[in-house]
Amino acid sequence: MLILDQDELVRASQVALLADLEGFGRPKLSSSVRRAFLEVPRHLFVSRYREYGHAEWSFVGDKSLWRHLPTIYREGGLAIWGSNDEDVAATISHPSVVLLMLSLLHLKPGMQVLEIGTGSGWNAGLLASIVGPQGTVDSVEIVPQLAADARQNIQRARLTNVNIVDGDGSLALDHTRTYDRVIFTAGCHDLPAFLYDRVSDRGILQLVLKCPGGGDILLVLRKSDDAFISETAQFTQFVSLRGKGYLPEFEAGSLESFAPWAELRHLPVGRRAFYSSRTEPHNYIGKTLALRSYLAVVEPRMQFFTDCFGLWDTRRKSLALVRDGTLSSFGGMRATSALDAHLQQWAIAGFPSMETMTVRACRATTTTTNFPEGWTMRRPDTNFFWYFDTPTR
Ligand code: SAH
Repeated sequence: MLILDQDELVRASQVALLADLEGFGRPKLSSSVRRAFLEVPRHLFVSRYREYGHAEWSFVGDKSLWRHLPTIYREGGLAIWGSNDEDVAATISHPSVVLLMLSLLHLKPGMQVLEIGTGSGWNAGLLASIVGPQGTVDSVEIVPQLAADARQNIQRARLTNVNIVDGDGSLALDHTRTYDRVIFTAGCHDLPAFLYDRVSDRGILQLVLKCPGGGDILLVLRKSDDAFISETAQFTQFVSLRGKGYLPEFEAGSLESFAPWAELRHLPVGRRAFYSSRTEPHNYIGKTLALRSYLAVVEPRMQFFTDCFGLWDTRRKSLALVRDGTLSSFGGMRATSALDAHLQQWAIAGFPSMETMTVRACRATTTTTNFPEGWTMRRPDTNFFWYFDTPTR
């Protein structure tokens, strides 16, 4: 029987995970991301973890490491902070997501990088390995204990070019540098204003923007003059940014907590089938995500609740509500007609989602002229202009 020592077991776990991540026709990782993955072992950043759906913590020690390797080196995220699944405050993310985000950053040796949301410090370590000793990584963490643990983890990985900063990364801390790359690893409602001054021209900022229709969208934004323009956008899921950047008014609440509902519920005027919403609650977001994210961009009157959504016409006191496989009209048909017009446009445009649009992020104080036809999503610090790139052929 072949008996492997601990280092060999770790290497075998890393290689097996890489094979999994690159298997089944998935794109190959770049050589620098691959090398960093092997040089900065994920298990050094997990001293305790909780699997989703489990209440108890697993503690990882030197002697018990071998038992935890299959869990740590598997394509899945693990909670490292926070007591239950509804309120997971920190994770070590899915390896595929971490490595994909690293690839999309197009890092080069010597670059200056800012990360917001250190968590375990694994991603900071990977970033540091890729930018090498001439580069630096500043990583901001809001939970002091996590920041302290991450510092230790970074030391264990023998990396010297990472600076872990305690604080709220949505605020301008004492950043003195201009960064070539900025990466958020928590979902945000806004793009903080200070970053317009802190990212070098043509630099890349990865923002995880919380989509009002549900889900998060990973935006890879390129700095161009005083704006950021998206190069790619894709759905993802991250824990929410906390601190000053957390804007509860943009979170979905329950229909019951929507003030006009108390009166409207007694004013039904029509009802028809709406099949895409006719699904189990846990599948609901996934099944309607493309439509909801499109509506969230093109129609400011949309209201998104935890398990349903609707178009609310305040002036005419009319609501079109999509819930449990039905579209119901309350207080009049105006909102339903407006929603129907969007549904028609959506079908004609080929069922697009937010993912298929381009976004230009500008300071909220900018007044933009000459902007292509599109839609504006306003936040306190940033206006997001969404549009479709016109096909050239
Ligand atoms: N970089 C980690 C992700 C950690 S999860 C990884 O890829 O594995 C997100 C982290 O962001 C958590 O540790 C959470 O505490 C932290 N966080 C949340 N809000 C923050 C804020 N305003 N400033 C800095 N860190 C924040």
